[in-house]
Amino acid sequence: MKIGSSYFGNRIPRHAQKDMQYLVDKHFTYVVHTFSENDYHFYAKTMKEIVKISRDQGLETQIDPWGVGKVFGGEAFSEYIASHPEVCEILSDGKPAGIACPNNPEFRKFMRQWCETAVAAEPDYLFWDEPHFYISGWMGGRPGTWGCRCKFCKVRFEELYGHPLPMEETEEVKEFKHRSIVDFLQEMIDYGHELGVRNSLCILPGSTVKDEWFQELAAMENLDNFGTDPYWYALKKEVKQYVGDFSRKVNKVCREMNREGHIWIQGFKVPGGREEEIQTAVKEAVQSGIRNLAVWGFDACSHISSIAPDNPEKTWDIICNAFGEVKNLT
Ligand SMILES: [Zn+2]
Repeated sequence: MKIGSSYFGNRIPRHAQKDMQYLVDKHFTYVVHTFSENDYHFYAKTMKEIVKISRDQGLETQIDPWGVGKVFGGEAFSEYIASHPEVCEILSDGKPAGIACPNNPEFRKFMRQWCETAVAAEPDYLFWDEPHFYISGWMGGRPGTWGCRCKFCKVRFEELYGHPLPMEETEEVKEFKHRSIVDFLQEMIDYGHELGVRNSLCILPGSTVKDEWFQELAAMENLDNFGTDPYWYALKKEVKQYVGDFSRKVNKVCREMNREGHIWIQGFKVPGGREEEIQTAVKEAVQSGIRNLAVWGFDACSHISSIAPDNPEKTWDIICNAFGEVKNLT
């Protein structure tokens, strides 16, 4: 059984040392370090030190392009899209959005540089975190709009479908976006592989509209580990059904594709009085065959006030106990 936690918000190695030791004491086996654009520009060597500290404690290490280009999930801003407005997605209202387009070759070039810097920190894995096109409901979104209608998307769509990119977000457009994400990720995953690290991918549950898309993502070449993050509190879903359904889906495709499968457990923004649902989530995931669980994030995110649970200490205790109960499963 592998048990992981994300870790962010601290770049002081002597504090990281204590926290990594603490994770090991709590039976965690791996850590996902966020590696935002801020880290890329200002903390690259510090991150290498923090990764080494983690490894020396016996933890497997993963590095996450947190919020990079805003194409990946996370509470980190992107300097790149501000200084390179030409890489941004163009929305259906004709205006740019605060997110890079995965079909933009300049952005892909920047991402390859990110890969090189991240791999120089010597992690075991690159962790591809919730890659997505523009989502109107997120920060900075404009209701009723969709993307992308940039020049690269228009050309690529016409090549693939033989007619111009429609003004409406049709089923064909949704499929095109899925295919574009696969194409973008495959380039990044191949590059990570070439640089000598393993690749793990976590997709947003909402991006799995069709089962075959789920399979195509899991089947990408050079991908070692595949999973999703069914955050039931955030999406107002019933825990047992929601986490169970996605865990079974992940387990099934990963068995078929010979990949390790993982599931993220929501440890942030947990409403007071509902903390025990975490136990149900962990139970559902392991009963579905999942043997790699991670929590977002360290200390139940008590240090990030915008997403801290109502009762962080209680939440963290329940997470650690629930993981402790399954840690010896094989
Ligand atoms: Zn585009």
